[in-house]
Amino acid sequence: MFFGCKNLSFSYYEKKVLTNINLDVKKGEFVGLVGSNGSGKSTLLKLLCGILFPQEGEVIIKDQKLDEHNRIKVGYIFQNPENQIIGVTVEEDVAFGLENIGVPREKMLERIEWALSTVGLEGLNHADPNALSGGQKQRLAIASILAMEPEIILMDEPTSMLDPKGRNEIYKVIRNLREIGETIIIASHHYSDLEHVDKIIALNDGEIVYEGEKDQFYKSNVIQSELPFNEKIKRQFNADLKELVDEICR
Ligand code: ADP
Repeated sequence: MFFGCKNLSFSYYEKKVLTNINLDVKKGEFVGLVGSNGSGKSTLLKLLCGILFPQEGEVIIKDQKLDEHNRIKVGYIFQNPENQIIGVTVEEDVAFGLENIGVPREKMLERIEWALSTVGLEGLNHADPNALSGGQKQRLAIASILAMEPEIILMDEPTSMLDPKGRNEIYKVIRNLREIGETIIIASHHYSDLEHVDKIIALNDGEIVYEGEKDQFYKSNVIQSELPFNEKIKRQFNADLKELVDEICR
């Protein structure tokens, strides 16, 4: 298995929040994780990247159980870009993780340049991260993860703190990441975040209630979620039509 989990269950003290979760994510796949607030999305992502450990089951990365040695292969992007900035300059921020794992200086500079250009922050190496816009800060967070060359990137509602411009910047970055074959899981309840996913996994009350194709998910009504524009229009049209027919038949 490239990445996923088997029979994963998790409780915060007495409170069970995830029950028997099984995931199988293929290399290069773009997966949307959806569910209402409190359904367990963040907890699942934290288990998948090794910030939390499950009481039952296991997370698998490239056929191995996730542990403190290989969890570096899983990158995690937080909801709030403010929480992820460490460096005094953009370049230092990206360098931080690389220094920690002992990447040689020359290689480090190469990776920093590549990561910054992939997220569209090239040339801002010496800028103060705190002076960046929300979208730029989140792109910097992505660059810092990307430079570590993870096997998979997990994003926990990466656009929810951003304005429309910032959100569009992140969509562009995600498109770039897909083009270079990155594997991504994005937790969100915004339809626009999920427009290009290969597959949807829906959680309800800590259990997977849907796994499959995106269009089918929006038709299925398996959980309440923001609908794509064409589905909204279709439903409104059907409702209006029904009202009209009812009126004619009355
Ligand atoms: P989501 O990301 O879908 O909103 P979460 O994973 O944040 O869901 O939360 C799932 C459940 O776990 C919720 O009932 C939430 O209140 C609870 N929970 C989340 N974090 C903690 C924590 N640190 N301690 C106790 N309960 C928590």
